[in-house]
Amino acid sequence: MHHTHQSAMPTLFVSHGAPTLVIDPVPTRDFLRSIGQMLPRPKAILAVSAHWDTPAPRLTSGASPHTMYDFYGFPDELYAMTYPAPGSPDLAQKTAALLAEADIPAELDQNRGLDHGAWVPLSLMYPQADIPVVQLSISSRRSTAHHLALGRAIAPLREEGVLIMASGNATHNLREVFSHDMTEAPVPYAKAFADWLTARIEAGDTDPLLRYLEEGPSGPRNHPTADHFLPLLVTLGAGRDDAGRILHDGYTYGVLSMAAYAWGL
Ligand code: ZN
Repeated sequence: MHHTHQSAMPTLFVSHGAPTLVIDPVPTRDFLRSIGQMLPRPKAILAVSAHWDTPAPRLTSGASPHTMYDFYGFPDELYAMTYPAPGSPDLAQKTAALLAEADIPAELDQNRGLDHGAWVPLSLMYPQADIPVVQLSISSRRSTAHHLALGRAIAPLREEGVLIMASGNATHNLREVFSHDMTEAPVPYAKAFADWLTARIEAGDTDPLLRYLEEGPSGPRNHPTADHFLPLLVTLGAGRDDAGRILHDGYTYGVLSMAAYAWGL
């Protein structure tokens, strides 16, 4: 992999699938485990998860965010896992200041922990949990343009060694997961959307991504809710709308594209 001498950290979007990703023997798990070696080591991580959805942006600002078990009916093993990475009140404040400069007021939240959209991939990427993590919420009632603007506003953190990592899913029809096996080949409607997404990202073609429901093949079927797509727009904005690249292409349950993308790498 080619590294230039620029000092900016890349930005990253990962698909997190089911919470069991952390224990399932699937290629996406192996991919996430390899990221620590692929990327420059960050000083801190700003994570944007599909699973923290608030009316207006919020940031975790506690010094020791707890591990949240925001899922139901999964194996006991998952509820025994913890991800004790420190928080970073400084990074939370710095991020809030950058957002304020862009006229996007954000509130600090001392009590919120790390949800599974953040800790499941991070526990594979950085298992030692020794890099501070701050989470920034999405607001699924706000526009795609809002989420792109969020990313653009926080892009300067990259020059300070912060990895901006969003966690959602390239396709996310949860209702259809249950009629497929974990290792099944991709169904055509999901593959069509994921391939479209990859092509737009690699072309640096931002506008169609803002209209993904209309422009993407079977947009509403692939994203019945916006929450797992919007984090991608934050990393795109933080990537300064550059062309990105696909790092990983895989599927679970036939309908979940587990694609991961990077900008500035
Ligand atoms: Zn999820």
